Amino acid sequence: MKNIAVIGSGTMGNGIAHTFAQFGYQVNLIDINASALEKAIATISKNLDRQVAKATLSEADKNNTLANITSITDLQSGVANADLIVEAATENIDLKLKIFKDLDQFAKPAAILASNTSSISITQIAAATNRGDKVIGMHFMNPVPVMKLVEVIRGYATSDETTKAVMELSLKLQKTPVEVNDYPGFVANRILMPMINEAIYTLYEGVAGVNEIDTVMKLGMAHPMGPLQLADFIGLDVCLAILNVLHQGFGNPKYVPCPLLVNMVMAGKKGVKTAEGFYNYANGLKDAKVADKFLK
Ligand code: NAD
Repeated sequence: MKNIAVIGSGTMGNGIAHTFAQFGYQVNLIDINASALEKAIATISKNLDRQVAKATLSEADKNNTLANITSITDLQSGVANADLIVEAATENIDLKLKIFKDLDQFAKPAAILASNTSSISITQIAAATNRGDKVIGMHFMNPVPVMKLVEVIRGYATSDETTKAVMELSLKLQKTPVEVNDYPGFVANRILMPMINEAIYTLYEGVAGVNEIDTVMKLGMAHPMGPLQLADFIGLDVCLAILNVLHQGFGNPKYVPCPLLVNMVMAGKKGVKTAEGFYNYANGLKDAKVADKFLK
C-alpha cells in the first residue's frame, strides 16, 4: 500500500492524513469544504512544528510530511489511485452510506474501504457496496498523531485478508491495533460515552459544577482529562451522534442523551471546534462558564 485517500478533513481527518504522510505514504485529503481543507493543512503544519520543537521530528521530515499531502475537493479523482481509503466524514449514517456507494464505484476494485466511524455499523456501511469483504472499521483516536490505539472493526463480511492488511498497516504507523466485533459503539465508545453522558447528567442535575466534576475524575480516577473536557475535545455533536447510535442499536434507555447535551448541540456549542462547549476556549483560555447558561 502506497496511496491513501482520507475523506473528511475535520478533527480526525487531518490527524489521519498527518500520520500516514509522516510515515511516507502519499495522501489525498478530500473534503467537500475547501476552507476545511485549508484549516486542516494549517493544523497539520502547526502540529508538525510542535513535533519539531520537541525534537521528535526533524525539519526535513516535517517538510516531507507536508509534501506527501495533497488536498482535493473532488471525491472521484481523489480516490481513483488509492490502495486504502479512510473515511472520516461527519458521523451521519445517510452520509456514510452515500460516500461508500460512491467509493465502490470510483475506487480501484482491489482498494480497501475503511471507516473511522465512532459507532455506526460497519456491516451496514459495507452493505452499501459490492465489496463487503474489503470494508472494515479503522477507528483512530484523537489526537491521531499522538494516540497509539487503532480499534479495528470487522463487519459481518470483512475478510481475514482485509483484517490482516489493516492490522499490519496500523503497526507500520507505530500504532497498536486491537481487533473487535461489530456492535454499536464497538468497545471504545460503548464504555466511554455512557461515562461522558453520566457526567453531563451530573452537571444537569446540579450535583456539581463543570470544574468540580472534571476534577473528581482527574484526581480521583487518574484520568488525564475530565469527562466534560474530553467531550468538548471529541466534539459534542459527535458525542450526541454516538449516544443516539447506542440508544437505537440496543434499545436501552440507559443510553438516552442528556437533554443538556442535546440543547448545547442545537445551540451550536460543540466544544473545542466551535471554541465553546462545557468550557470556553476563546483566546486559548479554558474556563467553565458556557455550560452554566444552559442549566436550570
Ligand atoms: P468533524 O465535524 O470535525 O469533520 C468532519 C469533516 O467531514 C468536515 O470537514 C466536513 O466538511 C467533512 N465532510 C462532510 N461531508 C463530506 C463529504 N461528503 N465528503 C467529504 N468530506 C465531508 O468530524 P470528526 O470529529 O473529524 O469526525 C469524523 C469521523 O471520525 C466521524 O465518523 C466520527 O465519529 C469519527 N471519530 C471522531 C473522533 C473525535 O474525537 N472527534 C474520534 C474517533 C472517531
